[in-house]
Amino acid sequence: MNYHKKGMWFPVALIAFVTVIALYFPVKYGHDFLLNYMLLHKGVVENVQVIKKGIIVYDELVWTDQTQPSDNHQFQVQLPGAGKEENICQISVSKSLYDLTPAGSRISVTFLSGKQWKCKLSSSIQGTMSILMAGHALSAFMLLCAFGAAIFLYRSHKKPAPGDLSDLTTNMEMYKEVHCPKCSEQMKEGYLPMGFGIHWRNIDQPMGLPTIFGVLPGTVFWFKRPKLHAYHCTICRIVLFKYGNEKRG
Ligand SMILES: [Zn+2]
Repeated sequence: MNYHKKGMWFPVALIAFVTVIALYFPVKYGHDFLLNYMLLHKGVVENVQVIKKGIIVYDELVWTDQTQPSDNHQFQVQLPGAGKEENICQISVSKSLYDLTPAGSRISVTFLSGKQWKCKLSSSIQGTMSILMAGHALSAFMLLCAFGAAIFLYRSHKKPAPGDLSDLTTNMEMYKEVHCPKCSEQMKEGYLPMGFGIHWRNIDQPMGLPTIFGVLPGTVFWFKRPKLHAYHCTICRIVLFKYGNEKRG
């Protein structure tokens, strides 16, 4: 049976899941990030007049001074080059700024020269940028982890050279056929890939708490996965294996 392919769906699904989660942030906020970056480095800062204020109701800007914190508060400001309609820019603001700023007063706005409609409140850019950068850094870290896991998974499926025991951690050095101690059938040669180790207790010993620190020597995956040379009877489900830290010991 191809045990090495069984359960493959789990790491593959996990890697795919982490990748999708990691890509969500750049896809959703990548555009915002670029805009904030451009405004921070190439933006023109100007003290401009608030010509209209209101909240968004069915896609329309409606003036009111009775607003809820959950409302989408907006200012329309007049950028330099007065009179032209394309020099009017609309920005989202907090409720507190909305309440404190009467129409006609001036606020500091940053915009891209030639793209006046891409403007933001100057005081909000740095904070927004920090949040977006933290989000993107987390995304990059998750993608790196997913990529590392994919490489690890791919390398785990490299087929060993036939009859080559040099890659195994141990060698039983049985120079004749090995037969099952129960049914006497010839046993199949192979190896046990190690993960969290193998525990052993004598028949008169209590179980205690089996942890990775109390395993048989050379059976835990720390940096390189141990491969224990073994013989297998699939009829009786008996495995004989050799453990140990000594290479080919
Ligand atoms: Zn057997």
